[in-house]
Amino acid sequence: MNNVHELTYLKENIQELKNSGVYRTLPVNTGPCGAEIMLDGKKVINLSSNNYLGLANHERVKKAAISAVEKYGAGAGAVRTIVGNMDIHEKLEVKLADFKREEAVVVFQSGFACNAGTIQAITGKGDLIISDELNHASIIDGVRLSRADKAVFRHSDMAHLEEIVKAKRNDYQNVLIITDGVFSMDGDIAKLPEMVKIAEKYSCLTYVDDAHGSGVLGENGRGTVDHFNLHGKIDFSIGTLSKAIGVVGGYVAGSRTMKEWLLHRGRPILFSTALPPAAVGAITESVTMLMESSEYTDKLWGNAKYFKERLAKLGYNIGKSETPITPIIIGDEAKTMEFSKKLLENGVFVSGIVFPTVPKGLGRVRCMISSDHTYEQLDKAINIIENVGKQLAII
Ligand SMILES: *Cc1c(COP(=O)(O)O)cnc(C)c1O
Repeated sequence: MNNVHELTYLKENIQELKNSGVYRTLPVNTGPCGAEIMLDGKKVINLSSNNYLGLANHERVKKAAISAVEKYGAGAGAVRTIVGNMDIHEKLEVKLADFKREEAVVVFQSGFACNAGTIQAITGKGDLIISDELNHASIIDGVRLSRADKAVFRHSDMAHLEEIVKAKRNDYQNVLIITDGVFSMDGDIAKLPEMVKIAEKYSCLTYVDDAHGSGVLGENGRGTVDHFNLHGKIDFSIGTLSKAIGVVGGYVAGSRTMKEWLLHRGRPILFSTALPPAAVGAITESVTMLMESSEYTDKLWGNAKYFKERLAKLGYNIGKSETPITPIIIGDEAKTMEFSKKLLENGVFVSGIVFPTVPKGLGRVRCMISSDHTYEQLDKAINIIENVGKQLAII
């Protein structure tokens, strides 16, 4: 018999990944995450980060991180419910609540921890969670951790959602409807006004995970709820501090009651160390910058519009995105990966996304535009995308 420590079963699984062509290694970035990056030792235009507003490497944000470290140290030292709760954590929550135009905010260590911790804390046995089929993995995990029953509606299909609610509402105490605010693979926005109508008609709770809407949609990046002016109608409004805000962390915005409960039952708050001072200082500065000026979001949308128009003119299928997320839909999986590989060889990094992340036959490369890209960089990227597309007979 094999030595158990050889992990033979994992080696077999890894071999299966290799056989089916989905095994990969991680690219290594040797500098900051900017509009251009040093990837595996080569300078390339970066069309794959979530650093929508260029805040991840902004001078003001970096300085704020450094001064927080000087005053508060490198680590928070404990979970928030013991002694890890510093005045800067409290101030950040007040500022975020103000920014989001909601009563209260609870900050978590990541968007992932926020979903995993919040969903299980606010639902239980006797409740039903109804989730969009394309919701993020961290929502799926949060739902799994809950003792509530689960149902899934077809992507953004409000008639299907209402059908499920109508059939099941009376069998449950609470019904929670969950959706992403912006869907990360296609860049489409959830139909929140219709969803809120259904929720009100049948007395359901609503939960929006706005990871890709935070810092992107709404006034100065206040998010999808603000975009539709639905303040007070979404019970749990989740945002990430890791994408457009440029640092790390997640939060839920909503009522004071929500906050009181999560401070007692949100497991990542009780059992995982508080965000480090550097992150809190940096996030606070990023949010301050967004509240002061729309220059970052204006630049982002200007760049996205320019890039999308140019790609569409070249004859690419860029799908139905309503946000700066710009898919170039290729279809065939192997061709998608070849396109992505050739783009990198020519100086543009755009990740290829294929089944099972997107349905079979809808392989795409997903371009993430940021406010940091100059027109010169965008033009250069577009030229490369045009040339490689012609070489591969995609356009
Ligand atoms: C990225 C993402 C998350 C996770 O956020 P992190 O802060 O990176 O952990 C959660 N939900 C959605 C919809 C996301 O796109």
